[in-house]
This record gives sequence, structure tokens and C-alpha cells, in this order.
Amino acid sequence: MAISASRFYNKLPIGGIPMHFRALVADRREDQAEASVQTVEEARLPEGDLLLKVAYSSINYKDALAMEPDGRIVSRYPHIPGIDAAGEIVKSSDKRLKPGTKAIVTGYGFGVSQHGGYSEFARVPGDWAVPLPKGLTEREAMALGTAGLTAAMSVQRLQDSGVSPSSGPVVVTGASGGVGTLAVSMLARLGYEVEAVSGKEEAHERLRELGAARILPREELQPQEARPLDKQRWAGAVDCVGGTMLASLLSRMKYGGAVTACGLTGGGELPTSVYPFILRGVSLHGIDSVWAPRELRKRLWKRMAGDLKPRRLEELIAEFELTEVPAAAKELLRGASTGRKVVVVG
Ligand code: NDP
Repeated sequence: MAISASRFYNKLPIGGIPMHFRALVADRREDQAEASVQTVEEARLPEGDLLLKVAYSSINYKDALAMEPDGRIVSRYPHIPGIDAAGEIVKSSDKRLKPGTKAIVTGYGFGVSQHGGYSEFARVPGDWAVPLPKGLTEREAMALGTAGLTAAMSVQRLQDSGVSPSSGPVVVTGASGGVGTLAVSMLARLGYEVEAVSGKEEAHERLRELGAARILPREELQPQEARPLDKQRWAGAVDCVGGTMLASLLSRMKYGGAVTACGLTGGGELPTSVYPFILRGVSLHGIDSVWAPRELRKRLWKRMAGDLKPRRLEELIAEFELTEVPAAAKELLRGASTGRKVVVVG
């Protein structure tokens, strides 16, 4: 039977560290994978400067893959997935983050090469954590999570490239997904005219509520035959899909337009030509949230608590207990889910 961490924690002196706590542990045997809530010993956590009492985590595509037999994300099992966590630091040898500080951990090896956030306690290097900014709760931070950071990095890159609301309309692909939904919301909040490409009719209304001026069906961006250059339409684009959709976007960007690429749900190939780059000065920017420098993360988390904070964030949240995570992850892999899945951990 699992020992509840709160029961255990309460028995310890203030500042004491529990020896056992609950975590969702994924295991793999031959071609079978399973994940279950188990009691874990603190000694099983990796080395690190910070011990975090996790309050919330979230479910991302990578987390779902970590629980699949052929997921190819995690090399060592048994493994505690969860690439995002928010909670309170209870022990620290890092001067930047003292005990009692609320913090957010995303990226690096968290939940991939090391145990992650589906655990009442997590231990990480100090560089992996940033302080929770004023204006965000731990729950809201996890509603944003890696998806939010990726969306914020994309928006920042468009701004750094000179794309402003007066430059013309911008477009977001994979708009009903975690990154896409948050990018639509952030751009609309900043005053951009946002077009959202989505293959899910049931998500259209929500995307409009988040500020999308128009919804485009996927087929419009995946023509049978993409031309190297097409009619100029957008000043900026946040692409979460890759493949022919990204190629199609590039051919329709306005002169000097900027495109960010963060995902590959539509494929890892990029069947394009040099024409958009050399005849229209279009630029393509890669977005990687995993190894993004800590100073940039801190800056963007502050923006996500301020001018980039989605207006209707609460409405995007679906909440899950640790025991419900495996089923929710399978639903995400089927492409059947929308919005952001927050996991209640502590
Ligand atoms: P989700 O699964 O939440 O959303 C992806 C969306 O892509 C879907 O909702 C769907 O949107 C669209 N889509 C799915 N399949 C296809 C297809 N075959 N063709 C066209 N569109 C498709 O994923 P996330 O938003 O969390 O992540 C998006 C991508 O970004 C993923 O590839 C992920 O791995 C990557 N990622 C990268 C990060 C980085 O640091 N570079 C960080 C986080 C994520 P709709 O139905 O509305 O069309």
C-alpha cells in the first residue's frame, strides 16, 4: 500500500525530509509498458542541489511517450516521468534558490534522463529551476509548463524579428494543441490579428474565444502541390506542425516575414526551396525550450505572469490525479485532447 507523503511529512520535524513518498513509476518489460503509483524512497532520487516538494505537474507529448513501450524518450526504467513541475524548495545548496522559495522546473533532463515531476518530491540541479514569478500560482505555472515556455519563446522570437501587430496578420498551426493554444492566446493578447490553423472543429469556438480572428482548416495549408512561392499573406507564423504545412507557410509569408518552428506533429521533413528566403527575405527560427538558457527562461516566465499571461487560462485546464495520468496520456497520444492537462501531485 502506498504511504501518503503528507502523512509521512507531518511526522517529521520542521525542515525534515521524508524518506518515502508517492510517485508515478513507469516500467518496461520486453515490449510491455506499465505505469503505477508507488511508494518511492528518497535514495532513488538523483543527485542535485535542490529538493522540490512538487505541488503540480502537467502532461505533455513527451510524458505520454515515456509511458509507451516504443516511446524512445527514456533509456532507463523504472522511471518517474513528468517534464514539468512546480512546487516549494525544501532543501537547497544553491544560493539563488533558498528553502521556502516556490519554483518551476522544466526541460533539460527532467522527466527524461532523470526522474521527473510525477513525484511528491523531485531533486534537480539548481540551473534547472527558476523562481515562480509574482502573478502566477503553481497551478497556473503548470497550465503553461513546457508548452507555455515554448509558445512564449516563439512569440519573443517573432517580436525580436520585428514582427509587430502593425506588420500584418500572423498564423499559428497545430492551434488546438498545448503550444498552439497558448501561442494564439499570447499573440491575441499582444494585439496581433491571429489566424489559427486547426483540424479539430470542436476546438474552433475556444480558439475564437482566446482571440483568433479566423480559423483555417488544415487542408488549406496542406495543398496537394505546394508552390515554391504563393500569394503573400502573413507577417509572422508560429509553426507546431512541420512537414508540408511549414513548407506551405514559408511560401505564403509576406516580404521580410518570420516563422518559428518548434514541432513535428505533421512530420520531420521540410519539403521547401530557397525562394522564400532569397526572394522575400523570410527567416525561419528554430525553437528549443529544453536547453534554453536560464536567464531567458526567467525573463519569459516573468512575461507569462504579465503581458503574455493567457486571459482565459483557467478554462484551458483539465485536472488529473497521479493515478489518472496513464489514461490521460494515452488520450493525448491519440490526438484526441485539447488544452492543457495539469496533474495534482502534492
Ligand atoms: P499537442 O499534441 O498538444 O498538439 C499538436 C497539434 O498539432 C494537435 O492538437 C493538432 O492540432 C496538430 N496536429 C496533430 N497531428 C497533425 C498532423 N498530422 N498534421 C497537421 N497537424 C497535426 O502537442 P504540443 O502542442 O504540446 O506540441 C506541439 C509540437 O511541438 C510537438 O511536435 C511537440 O513535440 C513539440 N514541442 C517542442 C518543444 C520544443 O522545445 N521545441 C517543446 C514542446 C513541444 P489541430 O488539430 O488543431 O490541427
